[in-house]
Amino acid sequence: MTGPERSRAAIFLDRDGVINQPPPPEERYITRPEDFHLMPGIADLIRFFNDLPLPLIVITNQKCVAIGRLSPEGLEAIHARMHALLAAKGAHVDAVYHCPHDETAQCDCRKPKPGMILRAAREYDLNPSSSWLIGDQPRDCAAGKAAGCRTLLLGDEICPDADLKKADIFEVQAWAEKFFRKKQER
Ligand SMILES: [Mg+2]
Repeated sequence: MTGPERSRAAIFLDRDGVINQPPPPEERYITRPEDFHLMPGIADLIRFFNDLPLPLIVITNQKCVAIGRLSPEGLEAIHARMHALLAAKGAHVDAVYHCPHDETAQCDCRKPKPGMILRAAREYDLNPSSSWLIGDQPRDCAAGKAAGCRTLLLGDEICPDADLKKADIFEVQAWAEKFFRKKQER
């Protein structure tokens, strides 16, 4: 790292399976705004982070753009619905970074690579090493680790890159309330 030490912590959030209910296995991708439904408990968790305040950055692979299942404009419409659903519950995310590539593109942004996190850290002056990444897939935690974040794996996958594992969003909220309150009191 060059220049002054970055000090701002953030929460990096995967999208599908963390913010919204994952697409059915046979569909694989969310391609219509009306199929985007918030996960139970996520709006409360995001509001908790909004109140601290900690910036929330969405980091999402969207290979469906590369393979022609969704246009860039279609992805924007889905994210507009995400912002609207969260706003209706008094919650907001600060930025959304997506990777529109597939494996053949050799990009540096597709998770498990850390490119999106590192770019967000530069653009928002965030310190990955004091930040957390929350995801539901091993590649999320791998990307978080590669960027220097601590990582929380949600659900029943197994991943050596996960510093913490929680079964659902409600467990994440219970942990966050203890972990971040204690930190603030120091
Ligand atoms: Mg996911």
